[in-house]
Amino acid sequence: MKERFGRLMAILTRSITDSNRLADWLSPLADGCAACGKSVQKHMRSAGTGGLPSLLQRSLCQRCLGSIPWINAIQCSRCGRGTPCEDCARDTKRPFQLNRSAVSYDPMMREWLALYKYRGLERLGPILAEMLVPAYERLAANPGCSWSAITYVPISEIRAEERGFNQAEAMANHIAARFGLPVYSLLERTRHTEKMSFKNRKQRLRDVEGLFAPNAREIRRLLEAESAASGHVSTRIGLLLIDDIFTTGSTAGACARALKEGGSMYGVEVSVYVLSWAHS
Ligand SMILES: [Zn+2]
Ligand SMILES: [Zn+2]
Repeated sequence: MKERFGRLMAILTRSITDSNRLADWLSPLADGCAACGKSVQKHMRSAGTGGLPSLLQRSLCQRCLGSIPWINAIQCSRCGRGTPCEDCARDTKRPFQLNRSAVSYDPMMREWLALYKYRGLERLGPILAEMLVPAYERLAANPGCSWSAITYVPISEIRAEERGFNQAEAMANHIAARFGLPVYSLLERTRHTEKMSFKNRKQRLRDVEGLFAPNAREIRRLLEAESAASGHVSTRIGLLLIDDIFTTGSTAGACARALKEGGSMYGVEVSVYVLSWAHS
């Protein structure tokens, strides 16, 4: 007991003499870094965060902010991969126009997404969504890119019950509010599938076959709103599809196909642009 008390005192003394830790202790939890809990203010003085959305600068400590693996230089102009891309070279007729992802799916990003998705760290939600902003702006700057509404990759009912929310939908709502666009739930999942993480490209492609279907009622609602706003019936429309992880693009491709199919039911040609949080 006495020994344990002595050890505790030693730790305490060490901690208090360490000014960084003292700052951590004194800062209220709500002001701590949303990812690691450390104080944000003490790191704010350091440089190197210029150009990032202010929500990120306010909510993350310098170390976390500085470790985000942003994809700034893309190697594949189609899917936005930061490394040379075999998937697009192999599949030149992808049903979506372009994908852009905010970050590379490294172990730290995997951890952040897990904290939010499975361990209920809700505070991370708007931060992960806000991380999409630079990628959104870069995607929108591509010549010919335009969309008038946002949709997202749906999850199965089983998954929704387990988790209580769809992270792609939450990201879509955030981005829609940020850029003043409407969100429509244009897709339905036809069945439940197991997690895709450990599957290879072939298995993924088989898994997504017929996995998504257009939600005809929502598509009609969108088209009616479009023609009411423009005063004429449109025959072409651009949509932005949001997902959390882009791996081979098989999910995005299946969703884009379903959206195009949905549009064609009403004689409308749909172009699908994809914005994803992480590229794995
Ligand atoms: Zn942190
Ligand atoms: Zn690619």
